[in-house]
Amino acid sequence: MVALDGPSGTGKTTVARKLAQRLSAGYLDTGAMYRVVTLAVLRAGTDPADAGAVTEVARGAEFTIGTDPGRPSVALGGEDVSAEIRGADITHAVSPVSAVPQVRELLVARQRRIIDEVLAEVGGIVVEGRDIGTVVAPDAPLKVYLTASPEIRAARRSAQDTAAGRESSHADARASVDRRDRLDSSRAASPLRAAEDAVHLDTSELEIDQVLVALCELAGHRGLLDCAAEATR
Ligand code: C5P
Repeated sequence: MVALDGPSGTGKTTVARKLAQRLSAGYLDTGAMYRVVTLAVLRAGTDPADAGAVTEVARGAEFTIGTDPGRPSVALGGEDVSAEIRGADITHAVSPVSAVPQVRELLVARQRRIIDEVLAEVGGIVVEGRDIGTVVAPDAPLKVYLTASPEIRAARRSAQDTAAGRESSHADARASVDRRDRLDSSRAASPLRAAEDAVHLDTSELEIDQVLVALCELAGHRGLLDCAAEATR
């Protein structure tokens, strides 16, 4: 199992999916789980700051999340919401929702179940998030903490939004990245931080393929399947 943590805009999602494909492993995007609960909260007309009401919605939300790195999917009540959970309203509301301890408890338990199932079925999984190495799977054999300068992360986020047809200016993306960094790092329950034994990788100056090569090498060193040769092809 590989735990991949770090703030947004570090290339985490792209790299996690590609790494999982190289390792013929499953993939779990835990951020998508917090996002789909946030969508349920907003659809219910619930105030994201009302922890009690948010917990109720989270308990009742019927969502599914796919673990195929080639085809990640998220559904709420049977409806595919993969695109909707990336919208600006969800991105704005997700940090307060994910700061609610009961929501985290619920989702962490579900994440651990999914990890166990995929490990039993497929033999490996790459899990990305904010607290995977610290809370969800502290025993993961490889923990990586991806970073990049806020300037570069904002530029990547803005480019991603534009490519997906969402309106985005660099200034908006920078404000959003800064706000989420602040909220995710300062919350009391499982704040964003690197595990003590995580390998730090700054992706500011690296292309995705270079990050992948570095991760493949690390995976090889930890006795996980060696994908380095394939990644450099
Ligand atoms: O990774 P992504 O940007 O989709 O995550 C959305 C939000 O979900 C984060 O800003 C954070 O508030 C929350 N999150 C979390 N713990 C995780 C993954 C995501 O609190 N393991």
